Order: sequence, then C-alpha cells, then structure tokens
Amino acid sequence: MAEVLVYVDHVDGAVRKPTLELLTLARRIGEPVAVALGAGAADTAAVLGEHGATRVLTHEAAEYADYLVVPKVDALQAAYEAVSPTAVLVPSSAEGKEIAARLALRINSGIITDAIDLEAGEAGPVATQSVFAASFTTKSRIAKGTPVITVKPNSAAVEAAPADGTVEALAVTFSAQATGTKVTARTPRESSGRPELTEAAIVVSGGRGVNGAENFAIIEALADSLGAAVGASRAAVDAGWYPHTNQVGQTGKSVSPQLYIASGISGAIQHRAGMQTSKTIVAVNKDAEAPIFDLVDYGIVGDLFDVVPQLTEEINTRKG
Ligand SMILES: Cc1cc2nc3c(=O)[nH]c(=O)nc-3n(C[C@H](O)[C@H](O)[C@H](O)COP(=O)(O)OP(=O)(O)OC[C@H]3O[C@@H](n4cnc5c(N)ncnc54)[C@H](O)[C@@H]3O)c2cc1C
Repeated sequence: MAEVLVYVDHVDGAVRKPTLELLTLARRIGEPVAVALGAGAADTAAVLGEHGATRVLTHEAAEYADYLVVPKVDALQAAYEAVSPTAVLVPSSAEGKEIAARLALRINSGIITDAIDLEAGEAGPVATQSVFAASFTTKSRIAKGTPVITVKPNSAAVEAAPADGTVEALAVTFSAQATGTKVTARTPRESSGRPELTEAAIVVSGGRGVNGAENFAIIEALADSLGAAVGASRAAVDAGWYPHTNQVGQTGKSVSPQLYIASGISGAIQHRAGMQTSKTIVAVNKDAEAPIFDLVDYGIVGDLFDVVPQLTEEINTRKG
C-alpha cells in the first residue's frame, strides 16, 4: 500500500493532538509513515504506533532547536526521498506551513494549506478548504508532483488504530542554508493552564458585551468548567480587556473547535472568518437581531451576565 508521510509536531517526545488527527486522515489515503525530529523524537513512537503509524523515522540533532525551520525541511526532504510517499501531511501551524511550503518548492510539487478535510480520490487526495472568510468551501487536488498538504487542527477525530510504529533512524545531511538563522533566545509564554487556542476542542469567547477586563472572569469560569480555551473579539482585545494572542478572527487566530461559545459578540465578518468552521456554535447576545445568530446552532437571547454564570453553574453541577 502507498505510504503517506506525516510530519510530527511534538514537544520533547510528547506528540501534539493535531499530529494524531493527521494520522487519522493519512490512513484514508495510505499507510502513515511518521517523521519525528529533535530531542525526544524516538519517544513519540509508541503513541504514533497506537494511532496508525507503521514506521516512525527519527533523527535527533541540536540543529532542530538551535536554528529555524531549514534543518527540519532538510530532514523532511530526506524522508521524502527515502520513502517516495504518495502525499506529505503537515500540521497547519505557522511553522508547519513554512516547512511544507519550502518542501513543496524543493520537490517541485503543488501545495494545499489549511485543509479542513481530506479524502482519497482517483487522481490523488482531495482536500477541503474553507475560504473567503469561511463563506465558501472548496475541494482541490494537487495536479503537479507529490501532494504536500497542511491540515488545520480539529479537522479529524483522533482514532486508535494500532500499527507497528517501528522506529527507524533517518539519515539527514543538513544543507548549507540549515544554519542560516540561529535562535538566540527563548522565553516561554506564561501558561494559563488552559488548552492552546487553535487546538482546543472547545473555545469560549467574549466580546465588547463583556464590558471590561475584570468581567472576563465569567468567560474564564465558563471555559474552565468545560476545559476550554478562552478567545476574544477584536473589540475586546483593542479595549485592552484580553491579550491579542487570544483574538479570534481575520487578524487574530483561526479556530475550528468542536464547540464555540460566543458571548457579547455581534458576529462581524472579520470575527466569523476565524471561527465559522467550528462544528457547533452557540451564542449569547442580548440583541435578537445580532448577525451572529445567523450562523449559530444554538442561540440564547439574553444578558450574558445572567446567562453565562448560570451555564457555568449548571455544567459544574452536572460534572458533580
Ligand atoms: C481589517 C479588519 C480586521 C478585523 N479583524 C478582526 C478579528 O480578527 N477579530 C474580530 O473579532 N474582529 C475583527 N475586526 C473587527 C470587526 O469588524 C468588529 O468590529 C468586531 O469583531 C466587533 O467585536 P464585538 O462583536 O465584540 O463587538 P460589537 O460588534 O460591538 O458587538 C458587541 C455585541 O455584544 C452584545 N452585547 C452587549 N452587551 C451584552 C450583554 N450584557 N449580554 C449579551 N450581549 C451583549 C451586543 O448586542 C453586540 O451584538 C476587524 C476589522 C477590520 C476592519
């Protein structure tokens, strides 16, 4: 069976969820062969094998941490040349997209970024994208070379599918460009203890209706009752109530969770651009005419200061 390369996003051997989702999609089009690089690469094999990776190609070198993306591109290209896959899948993070684009250029192939679904097709994998501020859904196939496709988090379910997950050392020779851009310092972001916004299965967002930084505590309480990430509209961010790193929308982050709860957000097109592909959308807004109600699965017309604490209390009670 044809093999599909899956680029592994991991932190010291802990595989991040979007990579496991890629394995689900990879199994639709072939046998997944994972490529894990850097410190802890071999530690990824067990979990990758549990989710369908037949082989795990690993390479550890200081260059992956000390320099920006080029060493990783060199390694992915080495894996591509060793495996001759039918497709290469990469998680759609900023780094993932840069790696994928550089690889596609090197191997003279087409690239599709930010796919939200993937299926087998007669002439190669067909990727679904949500485009133009999520107002169109397109299906595309790469017509030149080996398809290189980046896939957004939460595009597929994580599924157990035990496979060998055999670890094999990947031979990598770094190119002259690999050491061109050195990382000189790293400052870890202060952790909120909540999931990463773009990867979270549930996102709870607040907008101008939250009316103050201190009131975001009620949005955070609802998020914590659900194990969710917190998002914010640009109006809330511009007002200084919540950090820009949490902004959802055209000029913020793009999220596609299983559940998106918007409170005090009107549903401007630029906000929708970042959340419209969420699987289930719930809005709390005191204006029954607010545009957000055009795209919700469940809408609550009411004051968020009444509704949100009740929701939190009910969820906490049921969790018991
Ligand atoms: C180039 C460009 C890029 C942009 N990028 C983004 C982006 O990335 N993300 C983004 O979000 N926006 C973005 N915007 C801004 C966007 O156009 C809107 O201005 C913004 O999304 C509005 O935020 P909001 O819905 O919180 O505020 P508003 O539009 O003011 O809506 C507030 C809502 O809260 C409701 N409300 C008020 N009080 C309560 C209450 N007590 N209980 C319940 N409901 C209440 C109101 O009925 C209203 O519907 C961008 C704009 C431009 C021009």
